[in-house]
Amino acid sequence: MRKILVALIALFLASPAVAGSFDWPGGRKAAIVLTYDDALTSHLDVAAPQLEAAGLRGTFFLNGTFPAADIPRWRRLAEAGHELGNHSMFHPCPRASFAMDPQFNTERYTVPGMLREIGAMNTLLTAIDGRTEHTYSVPCSISLAGGVDYIDALRTSGMIRSVRTGVPDGGVVSDPARLDPFRVPSRSFPETATADDLIAYVKDVQRAGGLGVFMFHGVGGDYLTVSAEAHQGLLKYLKAHADDIWVAPFQEVMRRASPATRP
Ligand SMILES: [Zn+2]
Repeated sequence: MRKILVALIALFLASPAVAGSFDWPGGRKAAIVLTYDDALTSHLDVAAPQLEAAGLRGTFFLNGTFPAADIPRWRRLAEAGHELGNHSMFHPCPRASFAMDPQFNTERYTVPGMLREIGAMNTLLTAIDGRTEHTYSVPCSISLAGGVDYIDALRTSGMIRSVRTGVPDGGVVSDPARLDPFRVPSRSFPETATADDLIAYVKDVQRAGGLGVFMFHGVGGDYLTVSAEAHQGLLKYLKAHADDIWVAPFQEVMRRASPATRP
C-alpha cells in the first residue's frame, strides 16, 4: 500500500500535466501550431494540399520576394482560413547565416529600418489577404538590427500581434498563460526527421498540456526539407487526436493563449 502511495506521489510530482491545465477550446488538452517560413513553392504544392485534405489550418510566414504569379494561390489559402504571416520583406539575417547581398546583413540594419521593412511587408500581406492584423516570425530566429534587439520596439509599435522566435528548451510551452506573445518559441527538425520524430514532439506537448509550434521550411521539396511522408504522418496523427489537440493558426492560438494579444 505504501509503495503504491509513494508511486502515486512520484507520478503526481513528475507529471507536467498537473501544471498544464490551460483552458484550450473544446476541453482539449494541448495546442499545436503548424508554421511554414519563406513563401516556398512546396508549401503551395505539398504542405497546403495535405493540410486541406486533413481539414487543418496552418500559418504561412511570407517574406516579400516570392513570385507575383503565386499571389492568387496565397490569397486562396487565406480565404480558406489559413494565416498569412509576416517574415519581413527581404529576410535580413546576420552575415554569417548564409551568402546574401551585404545590404541585407542585419549588422547593417537599424531598429527603425527593420520596423519600416516589417511595416511594408504588412502592407503587402493586407493587399493579398485583406486583413489588418498580422503576426511575425523572425528571419533566422535572430531579432537583432545593428546589434540591437528590435522585439520591444516592434511590441510598442503596435504593428504586429505576436512573434514566433527560435528554438529554446525543445520548443514545448508548458505554461501558455505566462508566455510572452512576442517571444513564442518554436521547434524545427532536420531533413532526416520521420513522422515519428514529429509526433514525438506533439506527444511532449500533450504531456505538458501546453503549446507547441512547428517551424517548417521545405515540405517534400525546396530546402531544409521535411519529407512529404513525414509531414503527412504528422497530420494524420493530429487529425486522429483532434479531441485532445487543438490545431489552429498562430494568431488564433495566441489570442487564446495570451490575453495581451486579444483585441
Ligand atoms: Zn526564413
